[in-house]
Amino acid sequence: MLTNLDLDELNTTFEGETPEGILEWAVETFWPDIAMSSSFQTQSLPLLHMVSRIAPRLPIIFLDTGFHFPETLAFRDRVTRELGLNLRIVRPSLSPAELARRYGEGLYRRDPDLCCYVNKVEPMQRALEGLRAWISGIRRDQSPTRASIRIVERTAQGIIRVHPMATWTQQDIAQYIHDHSLPEHPLLAQGYLSIGCAPCTRPIYGGEPARAGRWDGQAKLECGLHTLLRESVEAQAPTEGGVGIKGEGGPWGQRPTHGSS
Ligand code: SF4
Repeated sequence: MLTNLDLDELNTTFEGETPEGILEWAVETFWPDIAMSSSFQTQSLPLLHMVSRIAPRLPIIFLDTGFHFPETLAFRDRVTRELGLNLRIVRPSLSPAELARRYGEGLYRRDPDLCCYVNKVEPMQRALEGLRAWISGIRRDQSPTRASIRIVERTAQGIIRVHPMATWTQQDIAQYIHDHSLPEHPLLAQGYLSIGCAPCTRPIYGGEPARAGRWDGQAKLECGLHTLLRESVEAQAPTEGGVGIKGEGGPWGQRPTHGSS
């Protein structure tokens, strides 16, 4: 059990640590009660690549809302195959058709907070049941809402969140992708620098920030996964039991056979 003092010390130490070092610490400390989430964008690739080298059996949670671009699903499958990742797909309790029957068509336009809660926050909370730690690739430079994230945090629900990439910049990400010849999401070339569900993502133009294309025209910057909007949106989706996402065997597993660059 990490005390608040432990977290303070870890955060001080980790400000000068590499993402690989933080990832190794997290897996060694919390295995098998640990998983990572990824949205499988281009900027997700460095951390996924590090996982493939350090702990390829680490469960990687992908939230399949039912509203993703087909390009994202194809990219997810390609990256999973090429890096040898342990992908776990988590879905909402309601399919898109059931969502429309219950709440009407176009919920993402009328009440995006509720839509994100039903399709992202609640399924993620379900996936995290029984885990002690959750890794994600969010960074301080991505948006004002992420500027103050700590590398290791405890949520109100008691789970330890680990952000190995917190101190990296977009330039660091691009350099790593270049150095390791990693693939790019096919929509990046069309101006999609930050990609979420298709109805809520547009390309960015000129010098706009990377996340300017998310929920365009809405007073919304986050889906809730990284702020966990439990207190502001009543639970309206049925909650099932945990989906049992835990590591199996050892985290190190069989290293994938992709190139060692
Ligand atoms: S990003 Fe849009 S479509 Fe996806 S869950 Fe949130 S509001 Fe709904």
